[in-house]
Amino acid sequence: MRLADKVVLITGAGSGIGRQTALHCAREGARIVAVDLNQSTAEKTADEVAEQNGQAIAVQCDVSRAADCEHMVQQAEENYGRLDVLFNNAGISHIDDDDAINTEEDVWDLTMDINLKGVFLGCKYGIPALLRAGGGSIINTASFVALLGAATPQLAYTASKGGVLALTRELAVIHGRDNIRVNALCPGPLRTEMLMKYLDTEEKRQRRLVHIPMGRFGEAEEIARSVVFLASEDSTFITGTSFVVDGGITAAYVTPE
Ligand code: NAD
Repeated sequence: MRLADKVVLITGAGSGIGRQTALHCAREGARIVAVDLNQSTAEKTADEVAEQNGQAIAVQCDVSRAADCEHMVQQAEENYGRLDVLFNNAGISHIDDDDAINTEEDVWDLTMDINLKGVFLGCKYGIPALLRAGGGSIINTASFVALLGAATPQLAYTASKGGVLALTRELAVIHGRDNIRVNALCPGPLRTEMLMKYLDTEEKRQRRLVHIPMGRFGEAEEIARSVVFLASEDSTFITGTSFVVDGGITAAYVTPE
C-alpha cells in the first residue's frame, strides 16, 4: 500500500475530485481527514471510507476562514497524531464569473477568497504540522485554465488558479530542504458536477470536446490517482510542478476530427 499509515487531509472532500481522492487514498492505507464546507457531504465521504474498511473523520470548514483552517489541521493532529499530506482542493466556479466588464466585484472576491486565499490558509496552518511530522507532500488544485486562455471567460476563476500555480512554486522553493514537496495539480475538463452544470446540453459538451485530443472528459477518479502519486513515495523528486492531467488539451493546437 502506497500510503500506509499516512494522514491525508483533503479539502472539498464532499464531492468530485476530493471525494474520489479520499476513497483512493484510504484504499492505499491512508487515514483521511475529509474536510468540506458541507458537513453532511464530508460525513458521507467519511462513511464511504469506513464502508471500505478505511479510517476517516469528517470536519466542517470554510477554507476562506483562518480559524476554520486552523481547526481542520488541529483535528488531524488530535485524532491521528500527525499530518503527512495536505490536499488543498476545495474550489468554486461562480455562475456569474465572466469577463472584466461583466464580473462583479463580489464574485471576484468570493472566488479569490475560496480558490486562492483558501490554499494559502491551508498552507499557513498545514505546513507547521507537516514540519512537526518531519516533512510531507502538499498538492494544490489549480486547473488547465491557469495555463491557457479561453474565449468563454471565467476571469476570477482563471486568475485564482494562476495564483495557485505561483504560490505553489514559491512554497516548493521555500520548503525544498524541509522534506516538504509542493505541487499544483492542473486537471483538464472533467465530467463532474462543477463543469456539467455549465455544459448542460450535448451541443455545449461537444463544443468543449473539440479541444480535447482524447475526445472525452476526464473522470474525478483519474485525478484522484494522480493525487495518490503526488502524495506517495513514488514522486519523491517531484516538487514545484504544474502537474497537468488533461487528456492532452494543453498540448493541442488543432485536434483530430
Ligand atoms: P465539486 O464542486 O464537485 O467539489 C468541490 C467541493 O468543495 C464541494 O464539496 C464543495 O462543498 C467544497 N467547497 C466549496 N467551497 C468551499 C469552502 N469555502 N470551504 C470548504 N469546502 C468548500 O468540484 P470538483 O470538480 O471536484 O473540483 C475540485 C477542484 O478541482 C476545484 O478546486 C476545482 O476548481 C478544480 N478543477 C475542477 C475541474 C472540473 O472540470 N471539474 C477542472 C479543473 C480544476
